[in-house]
Amino acid sequence: MPLILFAAPSLWPEYRDALPRAVAEAGIKAQIVTEAPPEQVDYIVYAPSSPLQDFTPYTRTKAVLNLWAGVERITGNPTLTQPLTRMVDPGLTEGMVEWVVGHTLRHHLGMDRHIVNPGHIWDPTCPPLARERPVTILGMGALGSACADALRALNFPVTGWSRSEKPGQLHGEDGLRQALSAAQILITLLPKTPETDSLLNAARLALLPQGAVILNPGRGALIDDDALLAALDRNIGHATLDVFRIEPLPQDHPFWTHPRVTVTPHIAADTRAITAARVIAENIRRGETGEPFLHLVDRARGY
Ligand code: NAP
Repeated sequence: MPLILFAAPSLWPEYRDALPRAVAEAGIKAQIVTEAPPEQVDYIVYAPSSPLQDFTPYTRTKAVLNLWAGVERITGNPTLTQPLTRMVDPGLTEGMVEWVVGHTLRHHLGMDRHIVNPGHIWDPTCPPLARERPVTILGMGALGSACADALRALNFPVTGWSRSEKPGQLHGEDGLRQALSAAQILITLLPKTPETDSLLNAARLALLPQGAVILNPGRGALIDDDALLAALDRNIGHATLDVFRIEPLPQDHPFWTHPRVTVTPHIAADTRAITAARVIAENIRRGETGEPFLHLVDRARGY
């Protein structure tokens, strides 16, 4: 019977019922514990905020199963030599799609003008249709492609850009230039890696059309903060940011008070225990039957 160590103590109340149920539904008889002698542990259910940082004594562990989608805080851990999987949770994806569609529609429809209108100005200008509002998504993985599908269903013309060459998408530096130049709304859903750090620097922000809106639910490090503040004085119309280099965003950070920056406190999408527990259980089932794990992290790539 495999021994599963749940090594994310702050999340245990959410998973105490959901994980045993999902494991049983996957047909696995297992023992799930929150503490165990390391040499007896078969699987570690993990979050990067966990106190467990030294994986060296976990000599029989078949996989470390991360509960978060982002893995930048663990890919560099030299003691972690076991296979590492990341979370691709249908519940998390659903939340991200809702956040992205909601904030896209806010800016597309110009909702702010009518929600805050102290002068009671009667401005009957209609917004354009979605089909006239080009959107670019940087990062077309689990989250970016789900957001692209939802926005395309509303008729937004969506351009996707990612690392590898794929049909119907852009890639590479030329592709990035093309993707940015076309974007009236830019959505960044890339992981944080050495290659994506400050990907949106001054030169690339300058490629965006006048009045472009940026939505960043990916990672704070994707954007150079100072370059963004300067670009807000030039071509960027608004930035809605969910993630930051330092979280919580320090009280004295200019993003809090900038009139054309919206701060949301890293709430775009959370892992949902019921659906995420099923993903963890499926990977344990795979580990037990010798099938390849889902959502394996490529540590050389960093995501
Ligand atoms: P994913 O499935 O791994 O997709 C990542 C995408 O980024 C892929 O399309 C990948 O390209 C692309 N990419 C990676 N490095 C690149 C580079 N150097 N140049 C161009 N494209 C690159 O990840 P995901 O599940 O969609 O999640 C994306 C990120 O969202 C996570 O890493 C996390 O940081 C963030 N997130 C935020 C929240 C929140 O609440 N704000 C919640 C969950 C996740 P390929 O397709 O070619 O591999």
